[in-house]
Amino acid sequence: MVGGGLTSFIGPVHRMAAGIDGQIELVCGAFSIDPVESIETGKSLFLDPKRVYKTYPEMFEKEKNLPPDQRIDFVSIVTPNHVHYAPAKMALESGFHVVIEKPIAFSVDEAKSLKKLVDKTGLILALTHTYTGYPMVKEARNFVKSGKLGKVRKVFVEYPQGWLSKALEKTGNMQASWRTDPKQSGMGGAIGDIGTHAANLAEYITDSTISEVCTMLNAVVPGRMLDDDSSMLVKFDTGATGILLATQVAAGEENNLSIRVFGEKGGIEWRQEEPNSLVVKWLDKPKEILRAGWSYLSDDAKAFIRVPAGHPEGYLEAFANIYRAFTKAMRDYKPGKKINPEKYDFPGVDHGVHGMTFVSTVVKSATSNKKWVRIK
Ligand code: NAD
Repeated sequence: MVGGGLTSFIGPVHRMAAGIDGQIELVCGAFSIDPVESIETGKSLFLDPKRVYKTYPEMFEKEKNLPPDQRIDFVSIVTPNHVHYAPAKMALESGFHVVIEKPIAFSVDEAKSLKKLVDKTGLILALTHTYTGYPMVKEARNFVKSGKLGKVRKVFVEYPQGWLSKALEKTGNMQASWRTDPKQSGMGGAIGDIGTHAANLAEYITDSTISEVCTMLNAVVPGRMLDDDSSMLVKFDTGATGILLATQVAAGEENNLSIRVFGEKGGIEWRQEEPNSLVVKWLDKPKEILRAGWSYLSDDAKAFIRVPAGHPEGYLEAFANIYRAFTKAMRDYKPGKKINPEKYDFPGVDHGVHGMTFVSTVVKSATSNKKWVRIK
C-alpha cells in the first residue's frame, strides 16, 4: 500500500475491503508522507518491520528485487491526487499490478500516460469507483442492458455532501486541506472528488458515456480556491440527456449519492444511503421495490451479493467486490495476455482517463461562453 497512514480516511477502508475475501494479504507499505507515521502504521498492522518503508520509491526498489514468490503482486495507491501518478508509474515499471483511487491522476496528461503504460506492460489496473461495486447498482445496469426500461431518455444523478460547508481546511483537517488545494487536488474540487463518482455511476448504469456538458461551478465558501459546488446539464453519447449535481456544501447531508434513470417504459431509482433497495417505476403498472439477496434478481447482481436477504450489506462489501473482481483478473493474468476489466466487471484505466477528461471539460465548460462543451 502507498498512503493509508493511521490518520487517513480511505486507506483503512481499502485494508478492510481487500481482506474480506481472504485472498489478499497486506505485506508491506509506505503508508504516509511522514516516515514516522508510516512505521507506526506498519507496527499497528503487525507487518514485518523490514517491509515497512519510509518512502514508496524505496518500497518498489526493494520489493522488485525480492524473489518472485516473496515480492508483492500488486499495490494499492490511496494517496491524495497529486501522489497518484508517480507511484502508479513506478509500480507498473517494476512489474506490479495496481489498484488506484479516483480520480486516477492529477491531470489528463498523467492519466493518458498511465494508460500507455498499462497498454505497454499488459499489467492490470483497477480504479476504485466504489459505487459500481454495489449489487443493486449491478441490477440497475442489468435493467438498462436487458432493455427492460426501453431506450434511456433521462438521467438525474446527485451527489450532495455537507462536510465542506465551512472552511474546514483552515482548521488543519488533512482531508479538507488537500482537497481544496489546486496543487494537491488538481483542477477540480468537489467535481473531481465526488463529481467523478456521480458521472461514473451514471455511465455505468446506463452503459453509455457523457459526451457533452454545460456547467456551473461555484466556490461557495469564501476564500476557497476550488469548486465546492457544481450543477450541470449533460448529454450522453446514446442521445439521453440529464442533470448531474455534485456539492460538498449541502449542510447536513452525509453521502447522499442517488440516481434516477428513465427509459421509454419505466425508470429505476437507487440511493447509496439505502443501497440494498432498487425502486423500479413502470409506465403502466405499480412501482416495485427490489431488494438485495433475493433469487428474483439478475445473475449480474447475484454474483456480487454476499449475505442473505435482510442482512445489511454495504460500502465495505461494494469496495470488496472491486477487489474480488480484480483478484480474479490477477489469477487469470499471464504475461503477454491482455486482461479486459469489462469482462471481470471492475473499472479500469479507460474509466480513469475518461474521468480526468470529464473533470477538465467541466472546468472548461464552467468558464466557456459556449452552451455545450464536448468531452474529447
Ligand atoms: P487522506 O488525506 O485521509 O490520506 C492520505 C494518506 O496518504 C495519508 O496517510 C498521507 O500521509 C499519505 N501520503 C501522502 N503523500 C504520500 C507519499 N508521498 N507517500 C506515502 N503516503 C503519502 O486522504 P483520503 O481521503 O484517504 O484520500 C486518498 C485518495 O482516495 C484520494 O485520491 C481520494 O480522492 C480517494 N478517495 C476515494 C474514495 C472512494 O470512495 N473511492 C473515498 C475517499 C477518498
